[in-house]
Amino acid sequence: MKSTTTGQFARWPRRVAAVLPLASMLMLAPVPVVHADEPPTLAPFSSAQGAQAPQPWRFTTLPNKAPTRFEVVQQDGFPRTAAELRLLPGIGAYTSAAIAAIAFGERAAAVDTNVERVVARLHGLKQMPPADAERLTLALLPADRPGDFVQAMMDLGATICRPRKPRCDACPLAPDCRAFASGDPEAFPERRRRAARPHRHGVAYWIERGGSVWLVRRPARGMLGGMAALPGGEWGDAGSDRLNAIGTVSHVFTHFSLDLAIVPRSEPEGEGWWQPLEGLSEAGLPTLYRRAAELVLAARRAA
Ligand code: SF4
Repeated sequence: MKSTTTGQFARWPRRVAAVLPLASMLMLAPVPVVHADEPPTLAPFSSAQGAQAPQPWRFTTLPNKAPTRFEVVQQDGFPRTAAELRLLPGIGAYTSAAIAAIAFGERAAAVDTNVERVVARLHGLKQMPPADAERLTLALLPADRPGDFVQAMMDLGATICRPRKPRCDACPLAPDCRAFASGDPEAFPERRRRAARPHRHGVAYWIERGGSVWLVRRPARGMLGGMAALPGGEWGDAGSDRLNAIGTVSHVFTHFSLDLAIVPRSEPEGEGWWQPLEGLSEAGLPTLYRRAAELVLAARRAA
């Protein structure tokens, strides 16, 4: 079995060859390792794990990345349109549009905060509702080589039209840019006030037997979708029952913070598997649960 390299992509059709770099861009980890003569498909992103993955695909596991985060679309070949790509769990509007435009030449508006800022400044808009950002970006997209346009906008937003001190002197859009014409481009768009981050509570169960811990897989959709986890209940606003808790892990997600109490249990909860503690790093636990496991093991060493 040989590893695929970028040079080897060159022998494949451009669109097919785009699959792996894009998958890598999307952090569709683990990274697939393939026979060099086999064109890539979505097969490695099936629910199979590690050595269970179908030949000739195998995964190499990256830290914190679950092999099963993405499900395979049950169709032949790679989904090609933004609408089809959007059906893949874990792929949002921006990513699906970026893949569709860059790999498959669709006129799809990939709007992240960088692109949104460029478009707002170009039109001299202080406010930019998401629907307007998509509509205005779409209006700018050329029919020819939309993928190049999408990448150019990404680069422009990241390196030239920066949030602070935009480099208008180096910007090809300057002659048409209303924000530049205003003399104060940085004022566009107005900064949004960050909403207060809510705080949640949860419980995770530490169930250990014979040198292994019981792990489950989180639902495909939602927070940490499809990733390995300790079993536990829903996360809510109310404080959780922390009776006999080994400890609590505090974690900050983008939209909320969480206190997760780690509580010992003796019987397995839900559908899962026994993961040997010595191989815990290979389970693909996200940071939250990896820290929970570290907390338990550190408490044991200190006892
Ligand atoms: S001219 Fe300045 S403000 Fe306008 S798009 Fe270019 S970098 Fe941004």
